[in-house]
Amino acid sequence: MAELQRKNVLGEREKSILTKQAGVCSGTGMKCDTDSVSGSVSQRACVYCGARVVLNPITDAYHIIHGPIGCSSYTWDIRGSLTSGEDIYRNSFCTDLRETDVIFGGALKLESAIEELMSKNHPKLIFVYSTCIVGVIGDDVDAICRHMSEKYSIPMVPVKSPGFSGNKSTGYRMACDAIMQVISPYKTDKRTGGINILGDYNLAGEMWIIKNYLAKIGIPVVASFTGDASYDEMIKAPSASLNVVQCAGSSTYLANRMEEEFGIPYIKVSFFGIEDTASSLLRIAEALGNEEAREKGIRFCDKETGKIQDFLNMYRSNLEGKKAAIYVGGGFKAISLIRQFAFLGMKTVVVGTQTGKKDDYEIIESLVDEDTIILDDANPAELEAFMKEKEADILVGGVKERPLAYKLGIAFCDHNHERKHALAGFEGVINFTREINESMNSPVWSYIKECGL
Ligand code: SF4
Repeated sequence: MAELQRKNVLGEREKSILTKQAGVCSGTGMKCDTDSVSGSVSQRACVYCGARVVLNPITDAYHIIHGPIGCSSYTWDIRGSLTSGEDIYRNSFCTDLRETDVIFGGALKLESAIEELMSKNHPKLIFVYSTCIVGVIGDDVDAICRHMSEKYSIPMVPVKSPGFSGNKSTGYRMACDAIMQVISPYKTDKRTGGINILGDYNLAGEMWIIKNYLAKIGIPVVASFTGDASYDEMIKAPSASLNVVQCAGSSTYLANRMEEEFGIPYIKVSFFGIEDTASSLLRIAEALGNEEAREKGIRFCDKETGKIQDFLNMYRSNLEGKKAAIYVGGGFKAISLIRQFAFLGMKTVVVGTQTGKKDDYEIIESLVDEDTIILDDANPAELEAFMKEKEADILVGGVKERPLAYKLGIAFCDHNHERKHALAGFEGVINFTREINESMNSPVWSYIKECGL
């Protein structure tokens, strides 16, 4: 392994960073899906943030953060899910715990926060998040939610998410448990023939793009989790015939629970890139046994692919041969991005995820070239070392990776929840191609080199 890597990697992290050679990620090869190594300064967010990723887009839910005001800064403003209905989800409500509450307990403050919300608004659904300090002082949030829920006859769902109680994936699971608490009373044996979409958060309206495609090929959507979701829509979810999981990292656990408890099977899909968008639409139709939808899907995808060929050919010459580094949340997105870059003639030289699973890494390994660096739960020092070593031209990541790329003089593409333009579907292919071209081929990078910065 390269000298740079040895200098920048903690001993406990070595098994989470591999250089592609045949079979390196299989079996016990890649260490992943575990808590972060202490002192490694992981790029992952905390448990509470993981829970809010999943629950925040529910447009008519009230989110009470039981904790210090700082935790509640994690709001719609930095996520960007869009709504076609209510917009109360764009607010955060916080109990603003202070020192005295740490000493005497915060239960009364939480009760009065719920009372105040109930007196001034008419919530259908409230989520109450436990943050780090609540995990330390031990307020009985479950009991308060149960009591208040009985008093006001609406679901008030505790989300057990103290930041230190695991990693971001733990937060996803806590959020999925909260969703199950909301929808389980509506369990039914009736099947509508429609699907639920899991793990899409309607960033820049991507859920609408996907729903539009599905409508065109005749597949009804029962409920979405949780992009542009509402309480009334979510409780219909147990009647769906199939769950499709877009963000596998955040929602496979929910899909598994819905399969076990409601008998709804699921498939994993991705709507990033031409290849994955087309194959996902066809696999949904096949999984439903809907031959008519499959045939419509083939015609629709051929037509949409044909429409953007000239555009892609025009840009391909600017992009061919460039090298990409990918660091994203889940494995499925990384896999789609590797395919998208290959389609554009680019090579992925570094690829990592925050919450990828073993099977994700095995697929990643099968897609990349020899000597590609594959890493799980990276930190900035590792990303910096490998991007320099592999001379990446662009980094695709999220808000925490952006400054790192710019400080290194490397182009950046935001593929996380803060972005304001859709990257899913055929429309997304155009936006993505245009963005990586503009970022990588911007004159700013040569000015920086000329100035010796
Ligand atoms: S780590 Fe703890 S204190 Fe920080 S945002 Fe997460 S829950 Fe709040």
